[in-house]
Amino acid sequence: MTEKIINGFEISQKKRKQIKEKVELLKAEGVIPGLAVILVGNNPASRSYVTGKGKASQEAGIHFELIEFPETIDEQKLLQEIERLNHDENIHGILVQLPLPKHINEESVIESISPEKDVDGFHPISIGRMMTGQDTFLPCTPHGMIELLKEKKIELNGKHVVVIGRSNIVGKPAGQLFLKENATVTYCHSKTKNMKEITKLADILVVAIGRPKFVTSDYVKEGAVVIDVGVNRLETGKLCGDVDFDDVLKVASYITPVPKGVGPMTITMLLENTVLSAEWVRSSLSRTM
Ligand code: NAP
Repeated sequence: MTEKIINGFEISQKKRKQIKEKVELLKAEGVIPGLAVILVGNNPASRSYVTGKGKASQEAGIHFELIEFPETIDEQKLLQEIERLNHDENIHGILVQLPLPKHINEESVIESISPEKDVDGFHPISIGRMMTGQDTFLPCTPHGMIELLKEKKIELNGKHVVVIGRSNIVGKPAGQLFLKENATVTYCHSKTKNMKEITKLADILVVAIGRPKFVTSDYVKEGAVVIDVGVNRLETGKLCGDVDFDDVLKVASYITPVPKGVGPMTITMLLENTVLSAEWVRSSLSRTM
């Protein structure tokens, strides 16, 4: 059974080693990749994600700046800080940890980040570039799942991928990235009727809904690959995904666990985007010299 489990932790460790090597090459050429993360308020989950990003950046040799603001910060002040970072030559990637307090307009904040430093890939320009196949920062979670499948040499070309969930940060871009890999993509969401009939057609089933253990084996075709994006905390304090892991393991050919599945790859792709941004800066510098 263990050979069916896609170990995102191990794969991300391997990728982080490669990223560290790229950082060393950049440093040898005088460019230190820099990532700035803005944290507003004191949401414990957000703080823990930010801590993880900082630790992973430092381990990879990436310069990391955490900028914290109180919950009450006014939107204008936040936008001014982003503008400052947009012009800071030591910073190649800017990330604003979401969610933001209700009085701040998330769209305005995301759109104020320079698309050239948008390492989360959430800016409408980054999304447009992704949709039209241009070079850009791909959103980290969907990109991470594609990388996991490629690492396991799972064929995507011509496969039917069903994505449950259509959020802007996971479901929608995941479908786009699978389309780019020549898969046939179907989306399901909360208004989808007869969902099991659709999900049972999937060669690859992606679940990103935020409902603990929602997908059971009766949603899954025998031999399908199941990617569980969900991160839910149970009353016991344990983490679980949107997929009933033990049940679905019986029918899937491959499955990602929670934790140690998609999650570690999200941070890894953030590091990769930061390094990519620094590489783009280095190549534009060498063109102007
Ligand atoms: P979200 O913005 O809340 O979107 C949830 C999506 O699921 C919506 O499109 C919703 O449909 C759909 N949905 C909800 N209940 C459903 C149901 N019963 N049947 C079918 N579809 C349903 O969530 P998100 O940001 O995409 O995150 C999804 C999960 O992934 C969460 O558990 C989150 O914590 C996790 N996540 C993990 C990572 C990672 O790095 N591992 C990163 C991001 C998110 P409607 O559009 O119709 O409302």
